[in-house]
Amino acid sequence: MKDIFALVDCNNFYVSCEKVFNPKLDGKPVVVLSNNDGCVIARSNEAKALGIKMGFPAFKYKDLLKKHSVVVYSTNYPLYADMSQRVMNTLAQFTPNMEIYSIDEAFLSLTGFTSKNLIDYAKSIKGTVKKWTGIPITIGIGPTKTLAKTASKLAKKDPQYDSVLDITNHPNFDNLLDSIDVEDVWGVGRQYKKFLNRHDIYTALQLKNAPLEWIKTNMTVVGFRTVKELRGTSCITLEEIPAAKKGIMCTRSFGKAIESLEELKEAVASFVSRASEKLRDQHSVTSFIQVFIMTNPFKDEHQYVNSASVRLPIPTSYTSELINHCNQKLDIIYKPGYLYKKAGVIFDGIIPEDKIQLHLFRKSDLDRNRKLMKTVDYINTKWGRNTIQCASSGIQKKWKMRQSKLSSRFTTRWNEILVVKVS
Ligand SMILES: [Mg+2]
Repeated sequence: MKDIFALVDCNNFYVSCEKVFNPKLDGKPVVVLSNNDGCVIARSNEAKALGIKMGFPAFKYKDLLKKHSVVVYSTNYPLYADMSQRVMNTLAQFTPNMEIYSIDEAFLSLTGFTSKNLIDYAKSIKGTVKKWTGIPITIGIGPTKTLAKTASKLAKKDPQYDSVLDITNHPNFDNLLDSIDVEDVWGVGRQYKKFLNRHDIYTALQLKNAPLEWIKTNMTVVGFRTVKELRGTSCITLEEIPAAKKGIMCTRSFGKAIESLEELKEAVASFVSRASEKLRDQHSVTSFIQVFIMTNPFKDEHQYVNSASVRLPIPTSYTSELINHCNQKLDIIYKPGYLYKKAGVIFDGIIPEDKIQLHLFRKSDLDRNRKLMKTVDYINTKWGRNTIQCASSGIQKKWKMRQSKLSSRFTTRWNEILVVKVS
């Protein structure tokens, strides 16, 4: 049976989440900023039309934002994550096989759905997601994941498709591919674009027609698969179970520079807490941790960067123990007299928790610690993050990121639920 994939992509996802709870934003230019209100990470169509580019620092647009009364939001991750889950749960009603590809994208397998008119089916998916979650989506359909991605790009570009395009056996297939920049083909990116352009390959069609052997030599097996996929042979399968992460990291810029060791320890402790939560969530332990601190390289002041790492005697995911290790390292690398702007922790050598090699001469509280962490995670899942936390992570968290334009967590906090006033 021939494979059929659909790529579902939420339109301007973060902005769309804000719009669901604030219909007044309809038709207005809206942007969402990254951590610390730094760069533009989502734009409404109206903001795109003003020429606001993705990833650009917001301060560069200060005048433009003001002139056009652009509505600006700080990133509201709890809201976006919850809305994403709602969209994914809705999509799961339409196929037994799907891969959640990112916070706002999913691949659906429609293999064997041939008795249905796929365009109609996709339109009903789109309608249901909009009705149940308020989020607008675009759907691209094709015989391979790469072509499904391409179809969704095309559907976004041209309003005639009404956000749904099936590229399988399309009469203008080659013309459609010719209208796609080679850089926009899934898996090609900016680096290969330069290389391909040097060899007169500018569009997806030209890449599709490139000699396979030459591609394999110059773009490895990944490029080879991409070209085969453009030709309609499915090489990249659906990954229904996300692979456990091999490295976990938690790093942040501070809303306000930190000078004291105590505050630095506090910040790092809360990053360690977050990263070890992720570890436990995927049932793994870490055998290696690295902690780093740095000043602000964009400021004209004394600069200092340093990091230290430790190989753990017994791999663990126990928060307190990991915080202790980091604190010892911070004692060593911290230097007074600097304004620290960023810190982070990186876990490496991650292995499944049931593969721990115990130490012959060390007493281990493995079971007790595991039970404790399980309870902590349970409470925090049920009652919200940091309901219970290590005291060393601090209470006031003065270093917390700047989020001056934050919307409410409408869907995950009772006290922030939307209030409708009827007069
Ligand atoms: Mg998107």
